[in-house]
Amino acid sequence: MTSNRFDLRGKVAIVTGGNGGIGLGLAHGLADAGASIAVVGRNEAKSAAAVADLKERGVKAIAVSTDVTDKAAVAAMIDGVVREFGRIDILINNAGMSIRKPPHELELDEWNKVIDTNLTSAFVCSKLAYPALKASGNGKVINIGSMMSIFGASFATAYAASKGGIVQYTRACANAWAPDNIQVNAILPGWIDTDLTRGARQQVAGLHERVLARTPAGRWGEIDDFAGIAVFLASPASNFVTGTAIPVDGGFSVMA
Ligand code: NDP
Repeated sequence: MTSNRFDLRGKVAIVTGGNGGIGLGLAHGLADAGASIAVVGRNEAKSAAAVADLKERGVKAIAVSTDVTDKAAVAAMIDGVVREFGRIDILINNAGMSIRKPPHELELDEWNKVIDTNLTSAFVCSKLAYPALKASGNGKVINIGSMMSIFGASFATAYAASKGGIVQYTRACANAWAPDNIQVNAILPGWIDTDLTRGARQQVAGLHERVLARTPAGRWGEIDDFAGIAVFLASPASNFVTGTAIPVDGGFSVMA
């Protein structure tokens, strides 16, 4: 039985990129704690499968087909969620992608695509959700960073810039919205087995073995490793926690 402090029954969450990977792992946690969930993504088949999965956990779930880089589409998505559920309490800015090239090879349009998807979308979603989050009385924003919020990598040119930026954006929002009792935090995933990193493992020779050797836990993360932190950061249990960036990385970031 979930204690009241972690209870999300009656709360409404938006999870961008919630139709697979880490976003779905985060959504699993929220659903198991009782939240209604709007899954936001572009791939409608993936979103339909995620909604069916979440409904099986006994909560309400809807898919809202949205490209988070399209401001008008995000505005329509936020309005649609409020129309459907009457409120927004939790926003998880998780949608993300990477284009793996060193700085001297990355083109400007590629840079813009990564920054728009990983960073600017969080700004747009948060700004447009802010009135509803404020009205909630205890709003929660969770932004997804990365080990690239801390470290660099030759192939992570725009990706590292976007993930460093999202931590600083988190801190700005935490300050701005504390008077509204909205907490804003970031999660920094380590290396997690998802479509994104399956692509990276194909492109970057030796990556799989290097991650295993470098991660004290001795394994890649799984999507449900994010269920617990989602509940904590989305629930009243974290009401005095704001502006943080919490690694969920099997110790990757503390390995000397
Ligand atoms: P996935 O590729 O599995 O998931 C990415 C999600 O983002 C998909 O659900 C995708 O939905 C959605 N998405 C991407 N672009 C858009 C867009 N323009 N509009 C709407 N939705 C979009 O990757 P992960 O689960 O691995 O990644 C999730 C987050 O975690 C990302 O921010 C990533 O940077 C971060 N991360 C991942 C790590 C890992 O090891 N896997 C490590 C550190 C951070 P759709 O396909 O329907 O568009």
